[in-house]
Amino acid sequence: MDAAPDLMNKIVSLCKRRGFVFQSSEIYGGLKSSYDYGPLGVELKRNIAQEWWRNMVYERDNVVGIDASIMMHTDVWKASGHLASFSDPLVDCKNCKERFRADKAPKHEPGTMMKYVQGGKAKGEVLEKPVGECGYVCPHCGSPDLSDEREFRCMFRTTMGPVDPLGDFVEEVHGQDLSKEEFKKKLAAYSEQSAAYLRPETAQAMFVQFLNVQQTTSAKVPFGIAQQGKSFRNEIIVEHFIFRSCEFEQMEMEFFCEPGTEDEWLTYWKNERMDWYKAYANNPEKFRLRAHEADELAHYSSACYDIEYEYPWGWDELEGVASRTDYDLKKHAEASGTKLSYFDPNKVDPKTNKKGWRYVPYVIEPAAGLTRTLLCYLLDAYQEESSVDAKGKEKTRVVLKLHPKLAPFKAAILPLVKKDGQPEKAKEISKKFRDLGVNVSCDENQSIGKRYAKHDEIGTPFCITVDNETLENGSVTVRDRDTTEQQRVSIDEAISLVQAKLSR
Ligand SMILES: [Zn+2]
Repeated sequence: MDAAPDLMNKIVSLCKRRGFVFQSSEIYGGLKSSYDYGPLGVELKRNIAQEWWRNMVYERDNVVGIDASIMMHTDVWKASGHLASFSDPLVDCKNCKERFRADKAPKHEPGTMMKYVQGGKAKGEVLEKPVGECGYVCPHCGSPDLSDEREFRCMFRTTMGPVDPLGDFVEEVHGQDLSKEEFKKKLAAYSEQSAAYLRPETAQAMFVQFLNVQQTTSAKVPFGIAQQGKSFRNEIIVEHFIFRSCEFEQMEMEFFCEPGTEDEWLTYWKNERMDWYKAYANNPEKFRLRAHEADELAHYSSACYDIEYEYPWGWDELEGVASRTDYDLKKHAEASGTKLSYFDPNKVDPKTNKKGWRYVPYVIEPAAGLTRTLLCYLLDAYQEESSVDAKGKEKTRVVLKLHPKLAPFKAAILPLVKKDGQPEKAKEISKKFRDLGVNVSCDENQSIGKRYAKHDEIGTPFCITVDNETLENGSVTVRDRDTTEQQRVSIDEAISLVQAKLSR
């Protein structure tokens, strides 16, 4: 079996078995592409988010945070272009039932005879048909037997207000003899009135609140506004577990800078972001920067880098660091009538050559996906180690070598046996850690070997074992997850060992 899909299966299985990620609504058969983060997943996710926030906000004088609403004024999405362009023409394959983007499908001359397998399966009856007028075939099964192109809404639409507008709509059209087109038009008008959208990205709030944030904090350009939160997109293709799902979490920052300095800042931020990912990785060589080709750039973007990770299915995106020019602020200024600009009293205006320059800042945007980062660190951490035990039997140790700062538990406190005052002593040690704000697991079930194996598998960096000697002289054994080596130290030394891994 190919090692790559195998690794993905192992991660998915470990996530469920140990409580990192569950299928949403599983007892009802699950909801496609929705996932719930379990007791360990929520800790890992929070730790990643916290490390990002620490690096992007706490450790900088020129970046502040916000937490904006998921639902925003509909005009925001009109101005940003999401309402018009966030729909792609899609096609359904009548043979394999997959849905795909017309512009990404393999092209063939109309009339070319295409062979494909019925139902898109590996084996089966081979059919043959000519390519239609559209000039493309299904990217999944190669069939030219396709539906017409249709527009799909990629933003999640809901209604705001307690009254369902469809009631009024039915009142008005009831008994009228309308054509299909007229009916559609009226229905659209009614649903537009109360339509609200779930944000497809967190970025727009930073543009819309630019002035409020700048004025309340007296921020001087260059400065950034950071935000973490959920975003929603009706993705055409949901794939690779939590890699691409309709509901996801972002960690974005808009960095406002003086026009003309954007290239410098783009270089700065792409390097900062790469360093951040590598700092928590076992395999930093699996992260790379890729500059976008001119034809890949969004029309408002002057340059963009993708930070890519080598997933089991190949190199794919992890974060985009884009130079967005002054496009967003200008669009929102135009649409809202509010001047979204910055005045620098000390700079010379290049147009007038006089001191005092009012300009619309340029923007560099490092846009990371939190849930995607979580998958990438799980893949990076997963290792299987084979060894031979005392009886000559081969055994495999599964270990999640998560960075201690990301690990759900920083240490496990394990009484060797469930008697002789050991569990009480373990609780006492756990409390010492918890008083210091360190999340530990106090775990007394199963044999010590099974507990070591479990904590290796969930990435706990240290196992601290309480035994008879602990009660006699206050010493414990500390087992290192990565080397499995044990050392006997005092309780205070054990606490220092753990804390040393968590400080910078
Ligand atoms: Zn197909």
